[in-house]
Amino acid sequence: MNQTAKIISQAKKEGRKTLLETEAKLICSEYGIPVTKFSLAKNEKEAATQADQIGYPIVLKIVSPDIIHKSDAGGVIVNIKTSAEAVAGYKKIVENAEKYKPDAKIAGVLVQEMAPQSTEVIVGAVKDPQFGQTVMFGLGGIFVELLKDVNFRVAPITADDAKDMITQLKAYPLLNGYRNAPPADIDALVSILCAVSRLIMDYPEIKELDLNPVMAYPKGAKTVDARIILE
Ligand code: ADP
Ligand code: MG
Repeated sequence: MNQTAKIISQAKKEGRKTLLETEAKLICSEYGIPVTKFSLAKNEKEAATQADQIGYPIVLKIVSPDIIHKSDAGGVIVNIKTSAEAVAGYKKIVENAEKYKPDAKIAGVLVQEMAPQSTEVIVGAVKDPQFGQTVMFGLGGIFVELLKDVNFRVAPITADDAKDMITQLKAYPLLNGYRNAPPADIDALVSILCAVSRLIMDYPEIKELDLNPVMAYPKGAKTVDARIILE
């Protein structure tokens, strides 16, 4: 059995609907979606060793089936630059999580490569009761939340569909080299959208998928956070 099928069936067995970021990113990798390097630390010493291995700066994040929005729980620390900071960060994140939700199960802390800042985009999927699996694309932050500048297509989509979803956004100029922003690698984004489409067609039990954010670079793109919810 492949990795994706294993992860999904394991979650079902445990009665979990939300996959952990580690699980969602492993699935992304299997579908060819670029993600940040990561490893799961079970204690502060492991956090320091893994941070040394990945290379600084790194990001630490809470991994808990009971915490979906990690920053709300004080569960994300970016720009950690030394192993001493990694140790302190591990403690702080676990402490914050315990305060936020005293009965939360904590699987550990995710140590991950810090992706350089760039234009943030969101790739999503939702299962619509009427249309079935749909793919979504938009720019991060206010563009999605405030301006609702997003495009949807019913899956499966072709590369041309994906390209239309991107270029038909009102904010598209921001991906095309507006002022001092470097142009984004549109082909890399097209390839992520097509991979998400394949994934949700292969696994109709995926109810929601959120790659938020994906950093769009002049060459390539990288998924920084991934969430998958099963029905
Ligand atoms: P959540 O959405 O659950 O609160 P995220 O994993 O999206 O948590 O982290 C919150 C924010 O921290 C992201 O939107 C991003 O700006 C930043 N961030 C998280 N992980 C990384 C990373 N590996 N590299 C760079 N920035 C990151
Ligand atoms: Mg996020």
